[in-house]
Amino acid sequence: MKILVLNSGSATQKTSLYEIIAEPPADPPAPLWEGLIEWDATDAAIRTTGPAGVRLQNRVPIVSRRKVTEQLLSDLWTGAARLLTGPAEIEIVGHRIVHGGEEYSEPAFVTSALKDVVRRMIEFAPLHNPAGLEGIEIIEQILGSVPQVAVFDTAFHRRLPEAAAVYPGPYEWIARGIRRYGFHGINHQYVAQRAARLLGRDLRSLKLVTCHLGNGCSLAAVRDGRSVDTTMGFTPLEGLMMGTRSGSIDPGILTYLLRRDNLTAGQLDDLLNKKSGLAGISGISNDMRQIVSATNAGNPRAKLAFDIFIHRLTSLIGSMVAVLGGVDALVFTAGIGENSAEVRAATCANLEFLGISLDPSKNSQPACDVDISTVDSRVRVLMVRANEDWAIACDCWRLARTHS
Ligand code: ADP
Repeated sequence: MKILVLNSGSATQKTSLYEIIAEPPADPPAPLWEGLIEWDATDAAIRTTGPAGVRLQNRVPIVSRRKVTEQLLSDLWTGAARLLTGPAEIEIVGHRIVHGGEEYSEPAFVTSALKDVVRRMIEFAPLHNPAGLEGIEIIEQILGSVPQVAVFDTAFHRRLPEAAAVYPGPYEWIARGIRRYGFHGINHQYVAQRAARLLGRDLRSLKLVTCHLGNGCSLAAVRDGRSVDTTMGFTPLEGLMMGTRSGSIDPGILTYLLRRDNLTAGQLDDLLNKKSGLAGISGISNDMRQIVSATNAGNPRAKLAFDIFIHRLTSLIGSMVAVLGGVDALVFTAGIGENSAEVRAATCANLEFLGISLDPSKNSQPACDVDISTVDSRVRVLMVRANEDWAIACDCWRLARTHS
């Protein structure tokens, strides 16, 4: 089965083609083909890669997502090195949709009712849901009636216990949909399953804390294969310190700023989402690589940014472990989680009291999907490569199989 996966963001779109022949292999394969579109104000940069490396790379002076996507996909079925005879070879298309509201706790075939929910949730995910919806509609236009599947970032957290999901505000908030949704669920679920496989254990017997540390950062407490708590909430702003987002702060600061500086909602949004976090504190960068190198060069603001990041990470991992009532493994994933030996070392050093013991030589090796704890560590520590697109392809395959 040839499966196309679209991961549509506000300024980027990643597209991957997978083939699952009999069943999904136990270890994730590389995609057959990958396409990336990156937009700026006037241009789009397109790049595709296949089995033999880069196939196409150019900049086009168009910003219409539909036109650029058409160009990108035509690389699959035109030219001497085409991978498909035509669009009809694509049997199913999967989409990453950030917000599925209260309705969706599982991947689902795209219907007009599903599109209505995604549209309704634009209010709660204004940067992400419009791109996902547009991706679905573009595929309808280019590939006609091919079955499409939506896989939601909120779905894995949809069954959070009420006590974890409901904010202690006015009771009426619940009816208005003001509750904790949680995000990064596709990857939290994927790395939890992958961790169980790497540990040779049944996922339903494990207590895991999955640490998705990328530009956005969140934790999930996973018990019996289900998310029982997570650090992001109503929006992807809650919880950990991130690249440019503050994470949780005293809401009293907001009312203080509203009163004192007469800020508008838009200005507050901008402060908390774009001018805070590693970038806001360091004044240097949102990128952990630059924070670590500036810290090593003696920059005090970079050091403060790093220290806050680790303090908050330690404290929220502790909170996830308390909710789980123990922990079998800590799983690091995404850009920082996979690549920053410094972040993993500093966090695990703070958590030694839990029985976590990191092997320094394994921690400093650039490998993924490996156990980096010492043999006698009571809690395993894993590094697992984020792979949302493969997780979406597998969900498409499962849904197609159950409906065939
Ligand atoms: P996104 O959340 O947008 O998917 P990623 O998961 O790719 O992003 O994470 C990007 C972030 O990962 C970068 O901003 C940077 O902070 C961090 N990162 C990437 N490579 C490294 C590295 N080698 N060392 C430390 N941090 C890294």
